[in-house]
Amino acid sequence: MQGIEAIINGKKIVAEPGMTILQAARANGIHIPTLCDHPVLKPVGACRVCLVEVEKNPKLLTSCSTPLNPGMVVYTHSPRVLEARRAVVELLLVRHPLDCFSCSSNGQCELQDVAYELGIKESRFADEGDTCRDHVIEDANPFYVRDMNKCILCGRCIRTCDSLAQYHAIDFQNRGIKTMVHPPVGKDLEHSDCTFCGQCVQMCPVGALSEKTSKGQGRPWEMESVKTVCSYCGVGCELNIQVNRKTGRIANVKTDYASKTGLNEGRVCVKGRFAWQFVHSDERLTTPLIRENGTFREASWDEALNTVVGRLGHIKEEHGHDTIGFFSSARCTNEENYLLQRLAREVIGTNNVDHCAHL
Ligand code: SF4
Ligand code: SF4
Ligand code: SF4
Repeated sequence: MQGIEAIINGKKIVAEPGMTILQAARANGIHIPTLCDHPVLKPVGACRVCLVEVEKNPKLLTSCSTPLNPGMVVYTHSPRVLEARRAVVELLLVRHPLDCFSCSSNGQCELQDVAYELGIKESRFADEGDTCRDHVIEDANPFYVRDMNKCILCGRCIRTCDSLAQYHAIDFQNRGIKTMVHPPVGKDLEHSDCTFCGQCVQMCPVGALSEKTSKGQGRPWEMESVKTVCSYCGVGCELNIQVNRKTGRIANVKTDYASKTGLNEGRVCVKGRFAWQFVHSDERLTTPLIRENGTFREASWDEALNTVVGRLGHIKEEHGHDTIGFFSSARCTNEENYLLQRLAREVIGTNNVDHCAHL
C-alpha cells in the first residue's frame, strides 16, 4: 500500500495510510507530548497537550485524533503551539496539587514530564477557591487509592475499564470544575462493578490512582522489571514484577500492553496485580511436613517422599488402586499436571484424576 507523504517541522515524512498526525510523527522519530493518549486506547483528544499547527487550518488540531492527510504541512513546536500547550498544562495544574515530593508517581508522572519539557513551574490560572481539590481520598479497599485531587481528567482509566477490563465501572460524573471520575452516582468503588483488576491504576498518567500494596516499597527509578508468569491460575498471565534493586524485594506488579510474548496482552486480574505479598511471607513452607498424631513435624524430602510412596503402596495393596485419587492444581504448570496424571494412571493405575478448577 502506498504511504502518505506529508511535511512535519520542515521534514518530508512518509506514513502508513490511516495514521494520525501523532502516530506519523512518532513513526518518524518526532516527539509530541501527550497525556490522555496511550497506544492501546482509542484516542479522544481530551487533554489537548498534543495540539499542533497545520498550514491552511485556522485552528490548532489535536494530533492524536486528527488523521494525517497527503500533503499536510504540520508544525509540532511552533511558537503558537508552544504557547497553547503551556496554557493547556497550566489549566490542568489548576486542579492538580504540586506535592510531587510525597507523591508515589514522582519519577513516572507524565504531567511532571510535560511540565518539565515546557518549563512550567506553576499555573498562572490557579486562583484560590476554584481549584476543586477537596475530594475525599478513597482507600476503603485493600488494593488501590483514588485521590481525585490529583486527577487531570484524561479519561485513560475510564477507557481502560471500558475497552481493556470491560467492566464499565467508572465514568465522568458532574460538570465543569466539579467533574470527577467515579462509579455511578450513589455507588462507591467497593459497591460498584469494579473487580479491582488495577488496570486503570497502571494507566493513570499521574498519581491520582496508586497501588496501596506498593506504598513505601521503593521509588520508580529504584525498580528493575522482571518478566514472569502469574502462578495463581491456569490462564498464565504475563507479569512484569517490579523488584526494588536496593532491597531485592518485590515492590509492585506491572504489565506490558505491547508485549509480544504474553497471551494476556497486558490485562490481569486482582490476584496477579495485587496479591504478590506471599512471595516474601515468613509463613511459606520451606521443608516438607509430616503429620503425626494430629500435628505436623518437619521432615527431609527423602523421608517425606518415602512416606508417601510407602502409604500409597499400602493403600493400593490393601484396598485397590481405585481407592486412590489424584487432585492437581491450576497453580501448577501444564507439564507438572501432565506428570501427575501419568503417575496416577501408569504407577498407581487409576483414572481418578481431577483439578482444583472444578471447584
Ligand atoms: S480496577 Fe479494573 S474494574 Fe476497577 S475501575 Fe479500574 S479498570 Fe475498572
Ligand atoms: S484518575 Fe488518572 S487516568 Fe483517570 S482521568 Fe484521572 S488522571 Fe486520568
Ligand atoms: S492474573 Fe489473574 S487471570 Fe491472570 S493468571 Fe493470574 S490469577 Fe489468572
